Amino acid sequence: MKILCAGPTYIDESVMEKMGQSKTNPDLDPNYEKFHRSVERKISKLVNTDARSFIMLGEAILGLEASICSLMEKGEKVLVIYNGFFGEGFASYVEGYGGTAYRYEDDFQRGINLEKLENFLKNHNDFSIATMVHCETPTGITNDIKSICSLLKKYDILTVVDAVSSVGGEFINFDDFNIDVLIAGSQKCISAPVGLTLITISEAAKAKIKNRKSKIPSYYLNFENSYDFKGAPFPYTFNENLVYALDRALDLVLQRDFVKIHRDYALETREIFTKCGFELFAKDSLSNTLTAVKTPENIKSSDILKGLIKRDIIISKGVAQNAESIFRIGHMGNNISLQNFKELYIALDEVFKELNVKTKASLYETFLKSDIVKKD
Ligand SMILES: *Cc1c(COP(=O)(O)O)cnc(C)c1O
Repeated sequence: MKILCAGPTYIDESVMEKMGQSKTNPDLDPNYEKFHRSVERKISKLVNTDARSFIMLGEAILGLEASICSLMEKGEKVLVIYNGFFGEGFASYVEGYGGTAYRYEDDFQRGINLEKLENFLKNHNDFSIATMVHCETPTGITNDIKSICSLLKKYDILTVVDAVSSVGGEFINFDDFNIDVLIAGSQKCISAPVGLTLITISEAAKAKIKNRKSKIPSYYLNFENSYDFKGAPFPYTFNENLVYALDRALDLVLQRDFVKIHRDYALETREIFTKCGFELFAKDSLSNTLTAVKTPENIKSSDILKGLIKRDIIISKGVAQNAESIFRIGHMGNNISLQNFKELYIALDEVFKELNVKTKASLYETFLKSDIVKKD
């Protein structure tokens, strides 16, 4: 199956091989701990920082929930900044752990507007924490987290960023961007198996946890247990196989100019669809890791997906209210290869023909004329 969806992404054979090598007992073997810490440092390297990174056993959603559970105390006010599905989701964690979520909603088809946020903050800034999403995967919008977090810092607000679909695909400088908690996942741009949350944390966020008046209401989700566990290397038995796989996947990412590769494919994907008469969902701040395209009139995205699956290709539909009105191409992590995209465009031409959709030009022909093909 050719995987071109917005995650989980295609996993390289060498990553799967590493995963199959069970070698030791993570709790009892001191060499395992050394290895594990080296993997954590590779995560920090990916986001250009010396700040501490750690791994939690669980899908990336675990990290989102754990960030609120660990940082926020009952009764605290959290600014939930959002222009999409995942961003809004933070409000449910805040409310679930007894906080007050201030929902700051912006246009779902554009990046968070900085000027508007700046004006809002002038009169409303008694928040201890603010949450946001770097890349809104359901709609293909990448927010300018550097400017947003730096603005929040002026008001001493801690910043929590869901970067699940951007770490390993977009440039991030953890310190320079003024991020306090950065949450990534293993299965998007890093192209490792699902099941690990990767967290990078600032000293300010650690201090907030340390100075809590109340205990963190969870053992498993307690960040401190992951970065400063007393008496044992890990708070629970680690799945070493997933970490072997992650280590290999991180090496593959760090070996390449991953920012440029994602940007090049993003530019071409947008251009090909636009030239062929399609409309992109996002009006600005377009993501470099996936592209959301509006489905042609009277066509459902599930019809397009059905036609592609018959041809052994998987892309994504939209999410929630956009489920049937957009389809999404993940030029993300190991999905990216000329061969994959070649087969995608050949198949899409066929599927649109079957669905009686007239495109302005053949997607495949347009792809053949694109820079990424010409340069190859
Ligand atoms: C993928 C993703 C997550 C994790 O969600 P799952 O759908 O459970 O994998 C969280 N946030 C963002 C922005 C994501 O893209």
